[in-house]
Amino acid sequence: MELLKRRILQDGRCFEGGILKVDSFINHQMDPGLMKAIAVEFVRRFASENVNKVMTIEASGIAPAIMVGFLLDLPVVFAKKKRPKTMENMLATTIHSFTKDRDYEVCLSRDFLTPADRVLFIDDFLAYGNAAIGAAELIRTAGATLCGMGFIIEKAFQDGGRRLRERGIRVESLAVIESLDHCQIRFAR
Ligand code: 5GP
Repeated sequence: MELLKRRILQDGRCFEGGILKVDSFINHQMDPGLMKAIAVEFVRRFASENVNKVMTIEASGIAPAIMVGFLLDLPVVFAKKKRPKTMENMLATTIHSFTKDRDYEVCLSRDFLTPADRVLFIDDFLAYGNAAIGAAELIRTAGATLCGMGFIIEKAFQDGGRRLRERGIRVESLAVIESLDHCQIRFAR
């Protein structure tokens, strides 16, 4: 997606350890116009999948996910990182965070993920794929169907894309970064 790649080159910042900061337009301060264009592109790519629910993990997946849900007129559910005292009928799994280097639990009510659901998972980044694999695990445990996973940015030099595609999951990433070596952003496509 050219608009997104141009914006990443213009406003993205590289950090040691293969981290890209996009907090001025995607995951802290957000650009709604760009987010809408991102959602339009996800909708186009997954048009044939007959999705009936959009899912993400809080917090940074919520903005693109709700834009996609809005365009498709579908409900959006997000896995929570804090277990609410009042949540009944809960599904949970543990995820290792690459950026924070620690494990955390995510949970979601079975009321909002059921065997009737055909799910499109949306997130901001695909790095090692731990968050996405955790989400796929929640979807599988709920008996729902995973139709595909869409990421704004995939870092192809980390392993997530391969791990997901190897599991037979359809993955669509709008900007694929081949390398951040020497703090230079190089796109694969
Ligand atoms: P994964 O589980 O695929 O290793 O990492 C996914 C999550 O880690 C994303 O949802 C995102 O929040 C965070 N993440 C991974 N890599 C980056 C990065 O380079 N920059 C930022 N801002 N977040 C990242």
